[in-house]
Amino acid sequence: MKLIIGYLYGDYMNIYGDTGNIIALQRRAEWRGIDIRVKVKSLKSKIKKKEVDIFFFGGGQDQQQELVSRDLVLSIKGKTVKQEIERGVPLLAICGGYQLLGKYYKPHKGPRLQGVGLFPAYTAASDQRMIGNIVIDSRFGKLVGFENHSGKTYLEKNAKSLGKIITGFGNNGEDGTEGCIYKNAVGCYMHGSLLPKNPQLADWLLLKALEVKYGPQAKLKSLDDNIELKAHNIAIHRFT
Ligand code: GLN
Repeated sequence: MKLIIGYLYGDYMNIYGDTGNIIALQRRAEWRGIDIRVKVKSLKSKIKKKEVDIFFFGGGQDQQQELVSRDLVLSIKGKTVKQEIERGVPLLAICGGYQLLGKYYKPHKGPRLQGVGLFPAYTAASDQRMIGNIVIDSRFGKLVGFENHSGKTYLEKNAKSLGKIITGFGNNGEDGTEGCIYKNAVGCYMHGSLLPKNPQLADWLLLKALEVKYGPQAKLKSLDDNIELKAHNIAIHRFT
């Protein structure tokens, strides 16, 4: 089986170790004999329908976000990503990438950056820098990570959060939610990188991608996650 990861703006949006998520997806696929490739989809790239099997969109500072949001929204890319998510293609977006997949992101300075409108949410920069370890309860069990953002994201009424805060700030440090999930697209503030310490989420993304591409009978054989789960449990123990 083959999978293509579409790394959205991987040359601009890749702070706080977010590229580690790409590496985790690659290794976990390779360890199962899946031929997995990474294609960076950035300013000059086109995205064809059915070309990408998993999208990843990392974090970035306001400056990169401004550059990227113009390209994402003005080019057809943003629309194509949205259509692909509608047909079930999985996506993981972290922090700055997550913010640009909502309705808009209002940075500290300058005008609102229009988002793709994939997640029913909007973000505005705040005077509070939300930094630190984060642990949440989610449909994937506990998830652990690290957050560093000033943006506060507010979910609209019909939005589903990724999970509930146990430790940390999450979407806005006010309503106890973290992230957003829409179909098989996950947005959140959890850097770290997220997937190496949360193998269950990494495998969910891989399995969804296989199901969309090869049908509901697609399976992922289990791996020995002893080390990953040790890191996961130590983080939970230390930060809750
Ligand atoms: N500039 C955004 C914020 O500070 C995103 C930062 C990030 O991706 N960590 O909220």
